[in-house]
Amino acid sequence: DRARRSIDAHARLVPDFPEPGVAFKDLTPVLAAPDGLRAVTAALADACAGAELIAGIDARGFLLGGAIAHHLGIGVVAVRKGGKLPPPVIGVDYDLEYGSARLEVPACGIEFAGRRVAVVDDVLATGGTLCATLDLLKQVGAKVSDVAVVMELSGFPGRARLEAAGAGQVHVHN
Ligand code: IMP
Repeated sequence: DRARRSIDAHARLVPDFPEPGVAFKDLTPVLAAPDGLRAVTAALADACAGAELIAGIDARGFLLGGAIAHHLGIGVVAVRKGGKLPPPVIGVDYDLEYGSARLEVPACGIEFAGRRVAVVDDVLATGGTLCATLDLLKQVGAKVSDVAVVMELSGFPGRARLEAAGAGQVHVHN
């Protein structure tokens, strides 16, 4: 399909980033290609069709999430790294391989409670980021209907972790 062709044509593999020995899958050129953004987000929008709100994860999830919400005619919210949103916020701290990180969403002005929210990101690896996002959305009372990512890296337990965390439907484009 068109999304598959765009990914094959434009995704790049960056060796030794962000650490020696790690291969980073870079989807930035896919989103920059004229048809890439539309093709990829149309495919992900199909996967999120039952949602009432899209949550895009910092930072490429913002680009994808905005376009998906536009396709579906629904709203979008950014799940941001700690310290970027004005108060009040609700946040979750989670462990990384080295150190920890924090994600936040607004604690007022957005109706999360009881709404079906689809969570979007570019790449699923260990699943730590998405699991933390699911925790956060659970805390604000949202019902996660779907998790949609463009690509899953092989050799990581990401999808199994998400399913164990009760992540609705998990859609991986590749
Ligand atoms: P996880 O938490 O280990 O599943 O990593 C997923 C998060 O880190 C997502 O927000 C991704 O954008 C980012 N990430 C991890 N590995 C890669 C990669 O190889 N390419 C692009 N993003 C990645």
